[in-house]
Amino acid sequence: MSIRHVLSFGGGVNSVALMVVLLREELPFDEAVFADTGGEVPETYQYLETARQYLADHEIPLTVVSKRGRSLYETAWDRRVFPSAIWRWSTRDFKITPIQRHYRSLDVHINQYLAIAWDEVHRMKDSRVDYVTNLYPLIDRRLTRVDCVNIIQEAGLPTPQRSSCFFCPFNSVDRWRWLYETHPDLFDKAIALEENSKHFPSQRLTDQAFRERTDISLRSLAEVFADGGPLPALPAVEQQPCGAECGT
Ligand code: SF4
Repeated sequence: MSIRHVLSFGGGVNSVALMVVLLREELPFDEAVFADTGGEVPETYQYLETARQYLADHEIPLTVVSKRGRSLYETAWDRRVFPSAIWRWSTRDFKITPIQRHYRSLDVHINQYLAIAWDEVHRMKDSRVDYVTNLYPLIDRRLTRVDCVNIIQEAGLPTPQRSSCFFCPFNSVDRWRWLYETHPDLFDKAIALEENSKHFPSQRLTDQAFRERTDISLRSLAEVFADGGPLPALPAVEQQPCGAECGT
């Protein structure tokens, strides 16, 4: 069976740097694939076109795949839930499954490049399907996230915004603040999704950012941001999503 080398492209710093490394070192590279949940921030969609052009200049296609039917936000709204940091169904259904469906349609073995940096080595995992082998060139080269930023700048590319859904439960406090200040319309949509959940207020989209606080919702966070007041006292915790498909 023939082998196709595919970059799982998340649209963030790690995967842009890995794209550059693969091309710079002339490693086997047949295609990049991006799974679109429909909920990325506008900056990520804009960067996708930058990456598409960069890849096209090297004659590498960028394929965008997505789950059929409703977007992730619409699906969560309809079910009256939001993406779960525990069950991680959004990553499974809207990232991993569409990518694997694309791979199966190619009917070849896939060597999949995943953009996990050296300082996130705990996020490595084996492929759970026999037609895909995961490869980690950033880890093989011990390239950290800081190295990735440098690689992107040396290549003359702009540094991408963090890639993840605007309503991601793994958003850090800084990411929520950035969204509030840069895309207040999307922040309002995230509030609406949180408050539409049948599990609200016992579960909130801020649970990961404020692990031990049960009283901080997005609406209360917006009030703090609007006042310019101090953030709630407990340290914010940022946990990375489960795989390389999100946040890379
Ligand atoms: S970025 Fe967050 S919300 Fe979007 S699919 Fe990944 S884990 Fe789910």
